[in-house]
Amino acid sequence: MHLVIIGGGVIGITTAWACRQRGWDVTVIEANESLARGACYANGAQISVSHPHPWSNPQAPRIALESLFNPDAPFHWQPKWDCAEARWLARFLRECLPERHRRNTRAIAALSKFSLAVLRRWRSELALQYDAVTRGILHLFCDERAWQQGKAHAAELVELGIRAVLCTPDEAIAIEPALAPHRDRLFGAVHAPEDESGDAHAFTLALAERCAAAGVTIRTQTVATGWQFRADGRAYLRIREQAASSASERTLDADGYILCAGVGSRALAHPLLGDVPIHPVKGYSLTLPICEPERIPTVSLTDESHRIVASRLGNRWRIAGTAELAGMDDRPDPARLAPLYRWGRQWGGDAVDWSQVEAWAGLRPMTPSGVPLIGATRYPNVWINSGHGSLGWTLACGSAEAIAGVIAGEPPRIAFPFLV
Ligand SMILES: Cc1cc2nc3c(=O)[nH]c(=O)nc-3n(C[C@H](O)[C@H](O)[C@H](O)COP(=O)(O)OP(=O)(O)OC[C@H]3O[C@@H](n4cnc5c(N)ncnc54)[C@H](O)[C@@H]3O)c2cc1C
Repeated sequence: MHLVIIGGGVIGITTAWACRQRGWDVTVIEANESLARGACYANGAQISVSHPHPWSNPQAPRIALESLFNPDAPFHWQPKWDCAEARWLARFLRECLPERHRRNTRAIAALSKFSLAVLRRWRSELALQYDAVTRGILHLFCDERAWQQGKAHAAELVELGIRAVLCTPDEAIAIEPALAPHRDRLFGAVHAPEDESGDAHAFTLALAERCAAAGVTIRTQTVATGWQFRADGRAYLRIREQAASSASERTLDADGYILCAGVGSRALAHPLLGDVPIHPVKGYSLTLPICEPERIPTVSLTDESHRIVASRLGNRWRIAGTAELAGMDDRPDPARLAPLYRWGRQWGGDAVDWSQVEAWAGLRPMTPSGVPLIGATRYPNVWINSGHGSLGWTLACGSAEAIAGVIAGEPPRIAFPFLV
């Protein structure tokens, strides 16, 4: 069987590996000149099994309203005339209902745990190098309200089978001594020892090398433009090769196709599944060279009070956060970067080199429920693995194994709402 995978981000490349492992011929097509330049390029770097709660939660409508009057809020949007966004927001609000939120959390938790196990297996089998740190994530709480919520979340995590240990400020410092100068800022912490962090971009490139060595064809500068529907009841992909002398379109015949195009999935999925609710939610990051390694935490941090994460990537420090509805515009807006700069200066000070900061923005492919779309489409030869939102790096390896299992007709290994 020959499968074409659309999109060379972390989801596309992990999917290519899982499919190649089953003995199928695989071609990956990627619109950009190089792989992994989309949302996984400079993300928060966390393998965050301990954050299965989707952003659509019972508190989200209040947070969204408050954010309208606070330019520094971690969530930023301005009401505008955009039908796709309005439809997505309406569906997002529905997913905030407590019962839906609980159901979505359970699905994400199941996929995250499975994904971590697959990541660990691949890492040891393939000796992948991507600045992995396996010391867990410390969730930090800097105010009483966040700490009360954090304690409730930790109890829920334990119910979901995810290890989460409540820590006093001193216990948090014992886990991460670089936090000692910040003791007065801490109300409490939750340590999720199974969590990890690592550079998703480096991981994707390293795995792409293994894919190529195993016979996967990778074609960059090749854009999926749409579908041709034939009398055999199947859909065939239309592509445009940017590097070709004539930029004309043609059909790329294959036995099957898997849509893994991040925020590009919505348009391509429309003729296959109707209005697929994958919407771009912009996020920001700063990456800084480290001058004084002992002052910068190696344990990955989530500041729950400010909704900012920080991860150590070898001799670099990555700070990420912010959710902004700004359409398909992925250019960094200096106003949205300001809270990340402020946080970084507070927690990193001059232990990092601010003269060499790399500021970046990327578009999370977000569904209203936070649950990715994995499974079949209306066409028997096309599948989707997309819409991983804020957790695509965490969920990538498990989603790849899962979609390959769906295509192979294997019984599902996790309780997850696969598209059938
Ligand atoms: C600031 C920020 C912080 C984040 N932090 C974390 C984190 O700490 N942990 C975590 O788990 N997740 C995190 N995420 C989310 C994670 O990065 C994404 O969910 C993940 O990258 C999605 O992967 P993807 O492969 O679906 O999309 P992408 O990485 O965007 O890749 C999609 C690829 O498809 C290609 N493509 C699109 N359209 C076409 C087309 N028509 N033809 C051919 N190719 C096409 C694109 O060029 C791109 O290369 C973060 C995201 C952001 C923005």
